[in-house]
Amino acid sequence: MNITARKPHYCLQCDDGAELELGVRDVTLHADDVTRVVPEVAGWHCSKCGEIEFVDQDSARRMSAAWGGAWAEVYGGALRRENTFLDSRLRGNDAY
Ligand SMILES: [Zn+2]
Repeated sequence: MNITARKPHYCLQCDDGAELELGVRDVTLHADDVTRVVPEVAGWHCSKCGEIEFVDQDSARRMSAAWGGAWAEVYGGALRRENTFLDSRLRGNDAY
């Protein structure tokens, strides 16, 4: 894989045009209170906002899957809390 083929360019998310850095990094995702680390993500990374411009399909796919999994966990957790609450109410347990 040749990831040095493109010239450096600038972050589209940052107003001041931070320079993106080409490399392979472990990227940490935050979806609500769920955190995921995606190892060895190849691409142009913005050190300011965390924006990534992917240079290969594999990294993009793994990031996408991690986001999906993290949000599924966020919503799954919310659902479980709701069910636990309902269960405790049905049992007349006000100590929830
Ligand atoms: Zn940025």
